[in-house]
Amino acid sequence: MARSIGVLATRHIWAGIVEDTTLGGVRMYPEPGAEIDLKSLPAEEIIGRICAQVAELRREGPVESVGAGFPGIVRSGRIEESPNLGQLKGLDMQARLAAALIAGGLSVPVVVMNDADALAAGLAAKHGLLDRILRVWYLGDGVGFGRYPRGEGVWEMGHSVVSLDPREHFCGCGGMGHLEGIVGNRAMRLRFLDMEPEEVFAAARHGDRRAIEFCNLWHRALAAATATSVHVDGPGRFYLSGPNADFVDPGLLNVYLQDMVKMSPLQGTFFEVVPTSHDLALIGAALSSRL
Ligand SMILES: [Zn+2]
Repeated sequence: MARSIGVLATRHIWAGIVEDTTLGGVRMYPEPGAEIDLKSLPAEEIIGRICAQVAELRREGPVESVGAGFPGIVRSGRIEESPNLGQLKGLDMQARLAAALIAGGLSVPVVVMNDADALAAGLAAKHGLLDRILRVWYLGDGVGFGRYPRGEGVWEMGHSVVSLDPREHFCGCGGMGHLEGIVGNRAMRLRFLDMEPEEVFAAARHGDRRAIEFCNLWHRALAAATATSVHVDGPGRFYLSGPNADFVDPGLLNVYLQDMVKMSPLQGTFFEVVPTSHDLALIGAALSSRL
């Protein structure tokens, strides 16, 4: 049976053994409650922590590959941009991690990918869709976009332009009219200076007009970026995950999408909300290192 290690480095570093498609023995650094922020760790130390977790997991038996997901633009194993872990920008993580693992006595294929692409692969495995195209929106402080199978290219769909209104300037990247500038937590806090995102959505449920208008804009923005993806890559399944997936009304999203996608071969997109889970991303990272 195939045994690989999946790694995910976002708020924490997680690593687990994936046997076939089953995850076990998950390690986490820093421990919950520890006063350590990954943002402040040098790249060398992040690589070292990953290697330490891999070394622990290898004690449970041999592994054939290692797959690791990181936030940001990752192409050919190089982290070209990483807004959340800025110290990793420009690093050829795949080569560095492979070299560090070899130094620790493990010489196996290493694949480094975008964290949302890892999640998409995990969803494909969980739902038995490894022969299909599947996409996922990760909704949190920022907006991640993952696709299975992974393709060449950038795929920063979270920064899709969904508005030409010059007042839409809240995206963390500084770009105008971006999806994340409407849908992301940071952007919502800048827009509603006195309300947290949960409070905005609660106010909409209680009939607050400004909140309802924003809630509709939020869904239209997500529908617009989805429509762009459909016009580029065809219709199909879109999963909605991340801490803010709870805010999604799939029915409303679908209504807006239908307004935006009219050509008959592009009909048939399907939305599903999935609970947030780093476990699926670990499984997807491990599987992607095998494929
Ligand atoms: Zn942006």
